[in-house]
Amino acid sequence: MGLNELTILEANKLLAEGKTTSVDLTKACLNRIKEVDKKVKACLTVCEKEALREAKFADERRKNGETDGLLGIPYLAKDNILTRGVKTTAASKILEDYIAPYDATIIKKLRKAGAVLLGKTNMDEFAHGASTENSAFGPTHNPWDLARVPGGSSGGSGAAVAADMCLFALGTDTGGSIRYPAAFCGVTGLKPTYGRGSRFGLIAMTSSTDVPGPLTKTVEDAAIVQRFISGVDKNDATTVPEAVPDYHEELHKDLDGIKIGLPKEYFIAGTDQGVTEAIDRAIDVLKKMGAKFKHVSLPSTKYGIPVYYIITPCEISSNLARFDGIKYGLSVEKEKNNSYNLFDIYAKSRGQGFGPEAKRRIMLGTYALSAGYYDAYYLQAQKVRTKIKEEMDEALKEVDCLLTPTSPHPAFKLGEQSADPLKMYLEDIFVTGASLAGLPAISIPCGFAKPHDGGHEMPVGLQIIGRRFGESILFRLGAHYQKATDWHKKKSNI
Ligand code: GLN
Repeated sequence: MGLNELTILEANKLLAEGKTTSVDLTKACLNRIKEVDKKVKACLTVCEKEALREAKFADERRKNGETDGLLGIPYLAKDNILTRGVKTTAASKILEDYIAPYDATIIKKLRKAGAVLLGKTNMDEFAHGASTENSAFGPTHNPWDLARVPGGSSGGSGAAVAADMCLFALGTDTGGSIRYPAAFCGVTGLKPTYGRGSRFGLIAMTSSTDVPGPLTKTVEDAAIVQRFISGVDKNDATTVPEAVPDYHEELHKDLDGIKIGLPKEYFIAGTDQGVTEAIDRAIDVLKKMGAKFKHVSLPSTKYGIPVYYIITPCEISSNLARFDGIKYGLSVEKEKNNSYNLFDIYAKSRGQGFGPEAKRRIMLGTYALSAGYYDAYYLQAQKVRTKIKEEMDEALKEVDCLLTPTSPHPAFKLGEQSADPLKMYLEDIFVTGASLAGLPAISIPCGFAKPHDGGHEMPVGLQIIGRRFGESILFRLGAHYQKATDWHKKKSNI
């Protein structure tokens, strides 16, 4: 087994026993990236020299007695997370040569903990998408089947963890973008509670639902990373001063008496049979461990996608206004014999810099926010959003968490849906609820299913949604489930 295949916990043990070094771990990951990333295309930037320097430094810190849980652990970060001195493109032409002048708070925290940044991962441009096909730099391929998508928008992070290019990766989740690639690539992905960790230094998509979180090989590893990146930040007024529990202690409590809700609106026709079967088997496993199940109803679930696709374009149209050819990135000032006035610079830079999906969302959002439509669309969507949140909070008074599939089917083929934006939006059917309500949710591998178009079996993800700031129960359930099953240990043969 290569060092790059280790979990964080396993690597930590070897590091503590002096049986490996951060430099060796980092080299193993860098070699793996060289070996497979020509095919997978998970990374947009690899910072080999910097990573080896950081690894050496981590080894020195360990020699001086430090033992922090992430000290010397190599990871990749999604390319919409600012990393000082390293290109941060959000997979957009408009930021193609942008070098971040400062670190996002979560990167700063990981640096302090001694984690080693290997590079940046591919994504849908500005995180708009569910397949990573909207990247301006070409799609990422699913390591389980290179003809299929890795899910999105954090598809590079999902594929990199699945193919053991790193020990963990960071993603962002606005409406499923950590959970979806986790499900499609057969890894664990956590979307924490909105406000649990800082958004400072993330390239904003939808500020009211964006959250950063980990993609890992196990639930235990997700708990480790989340503990490091959680917490209040004076640079992000939406972070909440809730104490961050010691997730590890919580992991080991048993499941006796835990009540899990099965929302009937998430168990619907149209879900692939192989997915339903995998979820049913997972329910049986959890029942045997002492969990109790209860059917619940969230009638407003059907409004999740329409509401999400009004609110997100509105926030996107506002957030992307800053990319104007003056402040950041691409600036088209002159073409051939023409020079442009200020308005031309805006229009040409945005016209050439943004891809089709970003433009589509800017137009939808601008329309929905304009005078006369604001009340009919944006305000109405916000009211329904509150209803969705209230229903979920109410259901979570009766049960400790909710269990659903992450996606109605396993990974689809590259190109299969990219020409039809509406079809792509419908992918988010099971993931928008937790995002709109700001609740924590985790996706865990729970089996394999045959895709509808044939092909070999692909990973299936199980979603658990918790109460606000109730990440602990997700970790507890997930860790017990992974003790009883080995889906998370399966590897693609890339
Ligand atoms: N698929 C969703 C979208 O396209 C999710 C995006 C995200 O979570 N960043 O908006």
